[in-house]
Amino acid sequence: MDRENTDQRSNAGKKVRDSHPDEKINWIGSAGFLLVHLAGLFAFLTGVSWAALTMCFFMYVLRMFAVTGGYHRYFSHRSFKTSRWFQFVLAFLACSSGQKGVLWWAAHHRHHHKYSDTPQDIHSPILRGFWWSHVGWVLCKKYNGTREENVKDLLPYPELRWLNRNDGVAPFTLAAAIFGFGELLRIYAPGLHTNGLQMIAWGFFTSTLLLYHGTFFINSLTHMIGRQRFNTGDHSKNSFILAIITLGEGWHNNHHRYPYAESQGIYWWELDITHGILTTLSWVGLIWDLQKHPPEVFQKKDHF
Ligand SMILES: [Zn+2]
Ligand SMILES: [Zn+2]
Repeated sequence: MDRENTDQRSNAGKKVRDSHPDEKINWIGSAGFLLVHLAGLFAFLTGVSWAALTMCFFMYVLRMFAVTGGYHRYFSHRSFKTSRWFQFVLAFLACSSGQKGVLWWAAHHRHHHKYSDTPQDIHSPILRGFWWSHVGWVLCKKYNGTREENVKDLLPYPELRWLNRNDGVAPFTLAAAIFGFGELLRIYAPGLHTNGLQMIAWGFFTSTLLLYHGTFFINSLTHMIGRQRFNTGDHSKNSFILAIITLGEGWHNNHHRYPYAESQGIYWWELDITHGILTTLSWVGLIWDLQKHPPEVFQKKDHF
C-alpha cells in the first residue's frame, strides 16, 4: 500500500459528500435495471406455485455462484484456472444476472481493490454512503464504460469482448428459455400449476431482483457491517449473514487480505458455498490450480 493511499484511508471515517456534477443517473441506460424492479410486481399477477418458487431459488443460487465464482474469483482475481469453453460458460451465466459485461465487472472490481475506501474508490460506502455504493454508481453514466487498461489479460479473448459489448444477450436468452420451460410444464405437467408467464415472473425477474441486491451488498454492506480480522487499511468486514446471502462473499475482510485466494472462508466455520462448488468442480476436472491461502494465515501476527 503506498503512502498516499494510507493517508487517504486514515481520513476514510469522515464522509466526503462533495458534489459530483458529472455523476448523474443514466435513466435510459438503466431502463433494464429499473424494469426488473417493476417486473418483480408482475409475480403478484401471475400467482405462485412450488415449481416457480423452486426455479426462483435455483436461478438465484446458480447465478450468484456464477457471479462470485466467475466474475469475481475467476475473472477479477484469477484464483483458479479453467478451459476456454468453461470460462465462457461462467461468463455467460454471470452475465445472465443482468450485472453488465464480464470485462466491465472485472475491471471495476480490480479498481476497487487497488483504491478501496479512498477517494478514488468508486463505490466506498464509508466515503459516499450506503445508497451510492449499493446502486447509485451502477446507474451512473460516468462509470458505464469498461476500463480496459485494468483487464489486459482478458482482452485477447474475442468471445469475452463480444459478450461484454452485447451484455443483454445472456439475460434475454435465459428469460426466453425459462418462459419456454414454463410453457412445456403447462402442457406436459399440468399438475404443477405453472406456465411460462409465472415461470418468467419468478424464475427470471424475481430471482434477478434478489440477485441484484444480494450481489450489491458486497459493494455496500461488506464494508459496513461485521468484524475485521486483518488490518487491511480499508473498512472491509467479515459477516456470517452476508456470507449466507452471497454464497461466501461475506468474508470480505479475509478477501481483502488475500484477494488471490479461491476460498474466502479461512476457518472451517466460515461457510463459503462458492468454495464448496469450486472444489467439487476441481474434483471433476472442470477447473484446476486453485490458489490457496499461505500456511501463515493461521498465525495471529497480522490479526487484530
Ligand atoms: Zn471490498
Ligand atoms: Zn475481490
